[in-house]
Amino acid sequence: MEEQYLLEIIFLGTGASVPTKDRSLQSIVVRRGSEILMFDCGEGTQRQMFAARLGLNRKMKIFVSHMHGDHVFGIPGLIQSMSLLGRTEKLRIFGPEGIRDFIESINRTVPYNLAFELDVTEIEDGLVTSEQEYEILSAWGKHVIPCLSYVLAEKPRPGKFNVRIAKRLGVPEGPLWKKLQMGKSVTINGRTVSPRRIVGHSRRGAKIVYAVDTRPCRSIEKLARGADLLVAESTFDDSKKDKASEYGHSTASETARLARRAKVRKLALTHLSAAYKDPNVLLRQAKRIFKPTILARDLQRLEVEPSKK
Ligand SMILES: [Zn+2]
Ligand SMILES: [Zn+2]
Repeated sequence: MEEQYLLEIIFLGTGASVPTKDRSLQSIVVRRGSEILMFDCGEGTQRQMFAARLGLNRKMKIFVSHMHGDHVFGIPGLIQSMSLLGRTEKLRIFGPEGIRDFIESINRTVPYNLAFELDVTEIEDGLVTSEQEYEILSAWGKHVIPCLSYVLAEKPRPGKFNVRIAKRLGVPEGPLWKKLQMGKSVTINGRTVSPRRIVGHSRRGAKIVYAVDTRPCRSIEKLARGADLLVAESTFDDSKKDKASEYGHSTASETARLARRAKVRKLALTHLSAAYKDPNVLLRQAKRIFKPTILARDLQRLEVEPSKK
C-alpha cells in the first residue's frame, strides 16, 4: 500500500500587467492528487489550462490575491468555458473584499447558464480553509490595494505501511489496512494488532507559499518560514528599486533576501514585468543572494517533495 501521490506546481501565467507572446498573466496551479488549487486567474488562464491538459471538470478551488485585473480577469472566461464544456463540480473561489461583487456583477450581466455551483467567499488573513489533508492560510502583504499571500500547508502524511508485516500478522487486505494506516488498532481472531507494528512514523507534509504583488514584509516572511517552495514576485530588477517601492512590488534581490531570511528550500520568481526582453537579469540578481532560485516559465511543471526533516 505505497502512497500514490503527486504534488505538482504548474505555472500557467508568469507575466505582470500585460501579457506578452511568451508570458500569460498571473496564475499558478497546485495539482494535489485529483484536486486543483489555483492561485490567481489572469486573463486567458483557461487557455493555459488546456495547454497544460488540466481539464475543466475537476475538484477545484481558486484563491485570489487581490482585485487587480491581471489577477482576476481570467475568472469570467474560465467560468464561461467551464459552463460550455458541461462542468458539474462545484467551484469554490476565495479572495479579499470585492471578489463577490465582481463575480456577481458578471453573473448578473452576462448570462452563463451555469450548470454547476459557484461558491464565493470573501476572506481576511488567517485560516482560509481546513481540509482533511491540508490547510490554506493567508496573510496581508504590502501593495497599493489590499493583497493576500497564501500558504498551502499539508497536514502530516501517514507513515509507510509495511505490507510484509501486515500479511505475516494475518491482517487481510482491505478496510483493516486502511484502519491501521489511520493509526487505529484492529482485532484479528480475538487478537489486537497495533498500528505501531505495521505503520511507520508519520511524515512531514509539504509547505508551498504564494506571494505576489507585495513589498517584502514581516508578515510574508513569517508565512514563508521553512517553506519547501516559495513562489514570489520579482516584478522589477534592482535598478528599478524606487519604482518597485512606489507601486508596491519587489525587486529580484528584495525577494531573494526574504527567501534567505525565511529559510525556504527553493524560490521560484514570477510576475515578471513585460519590459524585460531578457528576464535572466532578474535570475542573476536573485541567485547572488539566494542560490536555489529559478525563474518560472509559462507551462513549467515542478514537483514538490516535503523535506525529510
Ligand atoms: Zn499584478
Ligand atoms: Zn497588483
